[in-house]
Amino acid sequence: MSLVVMKFGGTSVEDSAAIERTAAIVAGRVATGKSPVVVVSAMAKVTDQLLRAAAAASQGDRAGALAISSRLRARHRDTAAELVQDKTARAALIQLIDEHFDALDEVLRGLSAILELTPRISDLIVSYGERLSSCIVADAFRERGIDAAHADAREIVITDSEFQKAAPLDAAIDKRAAEILVPLVAQGKVPVMGGFIASNEAGVTTTLGRGGSDYTGALVGGALNAETIEIWTDVDGIMTADPRVCRDALRVKEISFEEAAELAYFGAKVLHPATILPAVKKNIPVLVLNSRNPSCEGTRIISVAPHCRSPFKSIAVKKKLSIIDIVASRMLMSHGYMSKVFAVFDKHKCPVDMVSTSEVSVSLTVDSNASLPQIADDLSALADVTYEGKKALVCMVGEDIRGQNGIAAQVFAAIRHINVRMISQGASEINMSFMIEEDDADEAVRSLHAAFFRDPDPAIFDVEARKQLLASSS
Ligand code: ADP
Ligand code: ASP
Ligand code: MG
Repeated sequence: MSLVVMKFGGTSVEDSAAIERTAAIVAGRVATGKSPVVVVSAMAKVTDQLLRAAAAASQGDRAGALAISSRLRARHRDTAAELVQDKTARAALIQLIDEHFDALDEVLRGLSAILELTPRISDLIVSYGERLSSCIVADAFRERGIDAAHADAREIVITDSEFQKAAPLDAAIDKRAAEILVPLVAQGKVPVMGGFIASNEAGVTTTLGRGGSDYTGALVGGALNAETIEIWTDVDGIMTADPRVCRDALRVKEISFEEAAELAYFGAKVLHPATILPAVKKNIPVLVLNSRNPSCEGTRIISVAPHCRSPFKSIAVKKKLSIIDIVASRMLMSHGYMSKVFAVFDKHKCPVDMVSTSEVSVSLTVDSNASLPQIADDLSALADVTYEGKKALVCMVGEDIRGQNGIAAQVFAAIRHINVRMISQGASEINMSFMIEEDDADEAVRSLHAAFFRDPDPAIFDVEARKQLLASSS
């Protein structure tokens, strides 16, 4: 059985036309003898809108929250009606959609009375996005001749109880996948499930964190020992930079697990940062593909990247960061001091992206978050502390920077007009990162891209597509 997990992001299921394209892609895989397991995100922007409804309700704006829900209900009903022509199937699907929205509205009304949005309630509210999209997609598939079976992701993806960023429990997922998904696939069915949503061992709904449907795809792929994990999105693959920032970004044909993980961690939104872990564990190739351009071969993420004559594969940017400066004139290098500093971040469950030290100071970068004032307060017991937001981390990734001389000089020459606050060459030796003002980030990416991808290696980068793009826009 050649099993392939196919994950479709929000834009790949955003409306009936997108779902039609998705159905055609899955039908194509079935026609070539593959056994797909399909994971879908909520329809584009639905998660954001559900979070907005939750925020409105928790501030007592009951009418505002219900208005958002009502618009979402209409969008899901319309999409379902456009996709499912069979009268009985359509009536059942619309009824199911209404039942979901009636239940959601109950939660929103309750929340607007209680006025306290807990992470647990937030997860329950956002879960409707994937619960609805997966039901609609399964029915749309069936009407197009795919023998689809809807599976509730919350019965398969079991996590701890860390709501909003739950960690998967691998053994439980393996067991549930074997009990629920394997028999469906053995019967020749195509399971369709939501990404992102999960449940703890007590059956309470959790989520894997924003963008987490990629992670679901990889977890399911790992549990089923899939042949490949396909991430279908709205760009041709992993590109040399975010194509929204750099119009002439090139598709990277092949990249290593290590490089892709680094890019995802440092902000390349195309992949959720944890996606690579389950794939690495089982050595399953991950393909990033474009549902709007399915004939493009995309990016292949594999264990060993082929040699590339350009030093970097891609540039990622992580925005909305803060820099924390800790100045402690004498204690800094004393035994145990750093562990006290890190204990504060640990207490607030705040990951640190980058650290740089001097004789008397430590600078750290973290995601801008609501706990920053308390973190600074706790740190002030140890030293003088200041913090500043609106920073961005630019991260250049490539295995081939290993052992190359003079790369740092070329990087900083390319952005000499931009003020750099902190620099780090990761211990992994495959990334070079630096911190700048958020407002300078796009300009920095374009300058670096122009400097390092002027003469790209055609074995690794899709040079032809860029030539065509530039010809059509001139
Ligand atoms: P999906 O909804 O399919 O999960 P996302 O919006 O999460 O899609 O991710 C795709 C987006 O990631 C692209 O539209 C692109 O703007 C952005 N992106 C950022 N960095 C990169 C990169 N290096 N290569 C490709 N896309 C990138
Ligand atoms: N729908 C979720 C989000 O928008 C998960 C995902 O799309 O990957 O964050
Ligand atoms: Mg995504």
